[in-house]
Amino acid sequence: MSLVFPRPNTSVIGKKDKRLMAEVNASPLKHFVTAKKKINGIFEQLGAYIKESSAFLEETYSNEELDPVTTEEQVAEVRGYLSKVAGIGEVLSRRHMKVVFFGRTSNGKSSVINAMLWDKVLPSGIGHTTNCFLRVEGTDGNEAFLLTEGSDERKSVKTVNQLAHALHQDEDLDAGSLVCVMWPKAKCALLRDDLVLVDSPGIDVTTELDSWIDKFCLDADVFVLVANSESTLMQTEKSFFHKVYERLSSPNIFILNNRWDASANEPEYMEEVRRQHMDRCTSFLVDELRVVDRAQASDRIFFISAKEALQARVQKAQGMPEAGGALAEGFQARMFEFQNFERRFEECISQSAVKTKFEQHTMRAKQISEALRLIMDSVHIAAQEQRIHCLEVKEEREDRLEFIDKQLDLLTLDCKSKIKKITEEVEKQVSNAMAEEIRRLAVLVDDFHIDFHPSQVVLKVYKNELHKHIEDGLGRNMSERCSCAITAALQNTQTEMIEGLKPLLPIGIRKQVDKMVPRQCFALSYDLNCDKLCSDFQEDIGFHFSLGWTMLVNRFLGPKNTRRALMGYNDQVARVPRPLAITPVSTSVPPFPQGSMIQEELMVSMVSGLASLTSRTSMGIIVVGGVIWKAVGWRLIALSVGLYGLLYVYERLTWTTRAKERAFKRQFVEYASEKLQLIVSYTGSNCSHQVQQELAGTFSQLCQQVDVTRQQLDDEIRDLNSKIEQLDGLQSKAKLLRNKAGWLDSELNMFTQQYLQQGR
Ligand code: GDP
Repeated sequence: MSLVFPRPNTSVIGKKDKRLMAEVNASPLKHFVTAKKKINGIFEQLGAYIKESSAFLEETYSNEELDPVTTEEQVAEVRGYLSKVAGIGEVLSRRHMKVVFFGRTSNGKSSVINAMLWDKVLPSGIGHTTNCFLRVEGTDGNEAFLLTEGSDERKSVKTVNQLAHALHQDEDLDAGSLVCVMWPKAKCALLRDDLVLVDSPGIDVTTELDSWIDKFCLDADVFVLVANSESTLMQTEKSFFHKVYERLSSPNIFILNNRWDASANEPEYMEEVRRQHMDRCTSFLVDELRVVDRAQASDRIFFISAKEALQARVQKAQGMPEAGGALAEGFQARMFEFQNFERRFEECISQSAVKTKFEQHTMRAKQISEALRLIMDSVHIAAQEQRIHCLEVKEEREDRLEFIDKQLDLLTLDCKSKIKKITEEVEKQVSNAMAEEIRRLAVLVDDFHIDFHPSQVVLKVYKNELHKHIEDGLGRNMSERCSCAITAALQNTQTEMIEGLKPLLPIGIRKQVDKMVPRQCFALSYDLNCDKLCSDFQEDIGFHFSLGWTMLVNRFLGPKNTRRALMGYNDQVARVPRPLAITPVSTSVPPFPQGSMIQEELMVSMVSGLASLTSRTSMGIIVVGGVIWKAVGWRLIALSVGLYGLLYVYERLTWTTRAKERAFKRQFVEYASEKLQLIVSYTGSNCSHQVQQELAGTFSQLCQQVDVTRQQLDDEIRDLNSKIEQLDGLQSKAKLLRNKAGWLDSELNMFTQQYLQQGR
């Protein structure tokens, strides 16, 4: 076996080299320490990551605006990981390397531990003081203390003697129980590196090996058998490790042949003894236990002197030379071998501990991060799919909105022209129908039968009733003539409008729109207002002799001129007040033109009329009178006068109420016709206005429906935009978390590569 790790002379090397040396000389235990730090860091990140993921999934799951992109199971699964990872992290942070020392009493177990700790921590030399296990562990404080099983009480121990005393004193300690010696980390490098050393009672003093193994050894990383080089390996020692081997799959076992200093007393046998020990130990490890192969066995079997090592180190710690005491020959070699053991032990325990303490949890962390990656991937895909769907729907809605806007513009123009056309037709139709009805007004008036009497009171009632009769009759006749056709045309146009606008509406509303036609409630109102129209009608039912002066003048001048002439005659010539002679008098037509022009015109027409009358008549009378006078004489004149009188009497007698009614009706027809003629175009445009109003109403109702649809589309697009925005955020968050899981996985892979796959 070679002696390794000679310390270089540090005084001649540079700063950089020093750092390099420091790394090389750094305790292999640091491997465990850094691995632990690393894996704890990863677990911390994993914990934070799961927390973030869990919050994200819960928030996403409870978002009711979106379709689900995650399931309840996924949320529960991630929530479960949260506590699991926290638990693992907790366990990991408490992980340490554990070495258990076994061997018979007084083989030097305590001495080996003390030598490794560079201090007299455990009592030795007095045989194992108790039957309990002594576990040496680092504490952050400066005071050493004892902790016994089942109690939180800290028993302060300042010196090793105090410890021995305390262990002696404590009667509560059962055989096989555990006492923790909490030793300040500041005093010992090994303890700083998370190493826990357990000293056991001699295996020769117990029969309860099985329970020991179960209680203290299942989590041990390394077993050190401290044997006595002055004797051979005992069966009790061997059988103990057989039992360990049965429980643990591949225990790391070191064999220390202690008290090798004693061999210095018999140097001639030393090599032979060493070879024998070596063979036996190798055969035990390689052939019996099969825990190492033959080539590695030499790294597991050492010949040391714990007593010397401890002594040298204590002296060194006190500033005295290492080999200051009376040391047996070969001390340096044994010391190197002890250091070599330490090095191999540290390498072995840190490698092994990293694997056993972290491998399983690393695998678990990998599984968890992979599961999370898959979950985030599925969320990402679901969000992406939903987003694409939303985008498609949005595009479709926007297209539809654009289509509606364009169509609406076109349809508005179309409807306007349709409305214009139909209103023009209606106006024409109504005007024609009304003209026709005016022509037939006499028939309508003749159909009016109620008792007629020339008295003012009766006439008033008669007129009122007549107005009503005309109003109803005209309305009825007009609607018979036009309403059907107009309503049909109107409904036709409405149907066309609806059919045009229907494609712009959603299917649900289309049915509602269909109900808008036929609109039974629409009826044309002709609004003739006969009552007011004819309110100024003044009948003339006084008796007028057909050969009377007025009538004769009337015959020659026409009714208008007669009236003017008579009025003028009344005003200017006779100056005698007379009642108004003849109707119609209309409010719209001024009864008399005023001013000198009209007076003159009247005079001229009257004078010329009279002149022609008198000239023609007088000439006729003179001629005829002369002839007749000559022929028949005064008898004929008397006869003529008699006939004239008879005619007068006849006409006076036949001027009955019925005749008056006929005259009244005739005058009324004339008057009403004239008046109605005036409102023909007004009625036409009134009706066309009604139709236009109706159609415009229908159109605006339809437009309202379209507007509602547009509004709905607008709302939908706004909702979709907000959804898309949310999904965008969700998607990128899921992607981020997925990538984080990937990153954690790669961290774990790197950890595996760096710490777990080494030496495989
Ligand atoms: P334990 O019972 O196995 O813990 O053994 P101890 O460490 O208490 O040691 C028992 C005795 O053996 C003590 O008196 C030690 O000084 C002594 N001893 C331990 N190691 C050596 C050694 O390497 N050489 C010699 N000569 N004596 C030793």
